[in-house]
Amino acid sequence: MIAGGGFAGSILARALHAEGRDVLLLERGRHPRFALGESSTPLANLALERLAVRYGFDDLWDLAAHGRWRRRLPEVGRGLKRGFCFYQHEPGEAFSPGPSSSRRLVVAASPDDDAADNQWLRADVDRFLFERARAEGVDCREETPVEVIPVPGDPGGGPVRLRAGDRTVEAGLLIDATGGSPLAASLGAGEASLRLRTGLVYSHFAGVAPFERAEGWPDSPFPERWSASHHLLEEGWMYQLRFDDGSMSAGFLLTGDPVDEAGTMFASLLDRYPSLALQFADSTPLRPVASRSAVAYRRDRAAGRGWLLLPHSYAFADPMFSTGIAWSLLAAERVADLCRKGVPADGPLERYRRLLAAEADHIDRLLVAAYRAMPDMERFAAPAMVYFAAASFDELRQRLLDPPTEGWCWQGFLGADDGRCRLFQELDERSAAEGGNGSPAEWVGPAIERWNLIGLLDPRRCNAYPVDLEDMERRAAQVAAGLGLDAATLRRRWPRLRSPDQLSVRRPSGRQGAGAAKRRARAPARR
Ligand SMILES: Cc1cc2nc3c(=O)[nH]c(=O)nc-3n(C[C@H](O)[C@H](O)[C@H](O)COP(=O)(O)OP(=O)(O)OC[C@H]3O[C@@H](n4cnc5c(N)ncnc54)[C@H](O)[C@@H]3O)c2cc1C
Repeated sequence: MIAGGGFAGSILARALHAEGRDVLLLERGRHPRFALGESSTPLANLALERLAVRYGFDDLWDLAAHGRWRRRLPEVGRGLKRGFCFYQHEPGEAFSPGPSSSRRLVVAASPDDDAADNQWLRADVDRFLFERARAEGVDCREETPVEVIPVPGDPGGGPVRLRAGDRTVEAGLLIDATGGSPLAASLGAGEASLRLRTGLVYSHFAGVAPFERAEGWPDSPFPERWSASHHLLEEGWMYQLRFDDGSMSAGFLLTGDPVDEAGTMFASLLDRYPSLALQFADSTPLRPVASRSAVAYRRDRAAGRGWLLLPHSYAFADPMFSTGIAWSLLAAERVADLCRKGVPADGPLERYRRLLAAEADHIDRLLVAAYRAMPDMERFAAPAMVYFAAASFDELRQRLLDPPTEGWCWQGFLGADDGRCRLFQELDERSAAEGGNGSPAEWVGPAIERWNLIGLLDPRRCNAYPVDLEDMERRAAQVAAGLGLDAATLRRRWPRLRSPDQLSVRRPSGRQGAGAAKRRARAPARR
C-alpha cells in the first residue's frame, strides 16, 4: 500500500503494478492540489528515462525533456529550465554582477531548449501522474487520509494496521510517500536532530518581470529568466521558477522563522532589495502568500519491518540545489526493485535504510556549507562547485558508461557512497572551521578536480558555464580518463549524451491491464 499520491507515490504505484504487485494508492487530498518542489534536474530526467524504459511508460520519457514534454503533453503545465543562476544582492542597492562577474554564477544544465529540464507545475504534473496510475489499473483513492492504528504491546514486524478514510486495512508493506507528514512518526521512524532551521514565505505570481542579463554583464549561455534563479540575501535566499505560461513560483527561505503575516513579510523583503522590488512591482499573487516555519525535518530511520519511507517522507533540508525530485525518483526505482518479488526481507530493507541515511547526511553537509557561505558569492562558490561537479559527474557517468549490474539506482545520490562522501565532509568541516570568514575558494579547485569533467572554475568563463560539447570533445582524453574509458570509446558513445526523441521499447507484456486487474480482484484481503 502506498500512502501519498504525489508524483513519487503515483510513479511507484505504476511501477509496482507493472511488476505484478497489488497496489493501493491513497491520497489525503484531491487532485489537482498545490505543491511545492517544482524544479527538475538532469539526474531527475535520467531516473524518469530509466523508469520509462523499464516499464514502457512513454509519458515519463516525455516528461524528461522540455521539447518532448511541450510537444506531446502540452496540457501538463511546465516551464523551460536551462540551468541554475545565483545572484548576490546587497540591501538597498540595485543588483550588479560585480568585477569579473564575481556576484553572479550561471551554470547551464542543457545545450538547448529541446533537451532542457523543466519546472514542474506540480498541480498539473501530480494530477496527470495520479490519473495515469488509475488508468493503468492501480486502485487509486483520493480524499483518503492514512493513519496508523497503534496496537498496544505489538512488537511490530507484522502487517501494519491502518485507518484509510473510513476503512480499516492491513498492509503487508506500507510505503510512506506522504512527504513529511506525521505518518512516519507513527510507524516508528523517530526523529533525528537537525542542523538547518529555516522559514519559508512563498506563492505563485503573475506579472513578474524577468531577472535578465543586462547590458555590460558578461555573456550568459542562455536567457537567465529560464533558470532556477537563486537570489542570495542577508536574510537567506529567494528562489524564482518561471513557467511557460508566464506565471512564477517564488519564495524566500529565511534563516529563522517568519515573524510577520506572510504577505507583509514577502513585501518587506522585496522592499530591501531594489532589483527584486522592481521585478515584482506589477505582480499579483495567484494564491495567498503563505509561510511555513521549521521547513527542514529528518526522521531517524527510513525503513522498518512492514514499512518504508520515500525520501521526502524521510528528510528534507533545503531546496537550494533542487535535489528533491531526483532523489525521490531514484528511491522509487530502488523500491520497485525491492518489491519485485513481494514484501522485501529485512536485509534489503536495511540496505535501503542505510543508503537513504548516507544520502540525507551527504545533502545536509552540502546545504549547511551553502548556508554558512551565503550571501558571499566568493565563499558560496565552494559548495556550488562541489554540487555541480558531483551532479555533472553522475550525469556523464549515467549517460556514457554501461550501467552496473544492479542498475544506477543503487549508486549513492551525488556520490554519497563513493569518494565524494569525503569531499562533502571536507566542505562541511572547512566551512565550519572558517567560522563565517575567509574563503575556501583555493581549496575547491583541486578538491573537485577528480569529478570536474565539465570545466568548472575555468577563469575564461567569468562564472557563466555553458554545456559546451565541443569543448568537452576537445578535452576528450581528460573526460574519458575521468570516467575510466579510453578516448576512442568515449567518442563512439558521444551520441548517448542526447536521448532519442521517442521511447523505443515496448511495454512489458503480461504485467498490465486485464491480467493484473484479475490478480487484484482475487486478492482483496491484503488491504
Ligand atoms: C519549499 C520547497 C521547495 C522545493 N523545491 C524543490 C525543487 O525546486 N526541486 C526539487 O527537486 N525538489 C524540491 N523540493 C522537494 C520536493 O518538494 C519533494 O522532493 C517532492 O515534493 C517529493 O514528492 P513526493 O511525491 O514524495 O511528496 P509530496 O509532493 O510531498 O506529496 C505527498 C502527498 O501525500 C499526501 N498525503 C499527506 N499525508 C497523507 C496521509 N496521511 N495519507 C494520504 N496522503 C497523504 C499529500 O496530500 C501529497 O499529495 C522542495 C521542497 C520544499 C519544501
